[in-house]
Amino acid sequence: MSNHWTTCYLGLGSNLANELGSPIEHLQQALLSLEQHQDIRELRVSSYYASAPMGPQDQPDFINAVVEIKTTLAPLALLALCQELEKQAQRERVRRWGERSLDVDILLYGQQQIDEPALIVPHAGLHERNFMLVPLRELAPELMIKGQPLSAHPLSADWSGLKLIE
Ligand code: AMP
Repeated sequence: MSNHWTTCYLGLGSNLANELGSPIEHLQQALLSLEQHQDIRELRVSSYYASAPMGPQDQPDFINAVVEIKTTLAPLALLALCQELEKQAQRERVRRWGERSLDVDILLYGQQQIDEPALIVPHAGLHERNFMLVPLRELAPELMIKGQPLSAHPLSADWSGLKLIE
């Protein structure tokens, strides 16, 4: 276990209520679990956003947020934790691009570029998804992505399909 604390960004999304709670409650529970994890500290959470679904349109809007963490977990251990949080929310896969009780993605892991079968960082969809870029910008406008500050990325200021909810 390393003692080095790496700043990482996770994207959270939910658009399905189940017996464990509403989409907002799924996000809150995941954030609580992260906060209580001994290898994670200094959480900073963005606002919550409602976003129009990416795939099939006959599903509810998503609730999205981004959280900044510092962690000593290695990238694959952090991925395993993200998947554990999804399991905790009793995630079921209804259909591809479809509704889900919780999705937790690693958006950025420090400045690392990771290209492994199970993990691509920066997240492969980051540059095309305003529901990841807008909350990320809220937390870290100065963050350098592909050699330019996030605030210079046009999609980080594109609110199409997005609404601030909290
Ligand atoms: P999803 O449908 O978004 O839950 O995709 C989950 C799959 O994406 C998992 O099997 C992961 O191994 C893989 N994956 C690749 N890169 C990432 C990433 N940056 N964050 C989360 N999952 C990832």
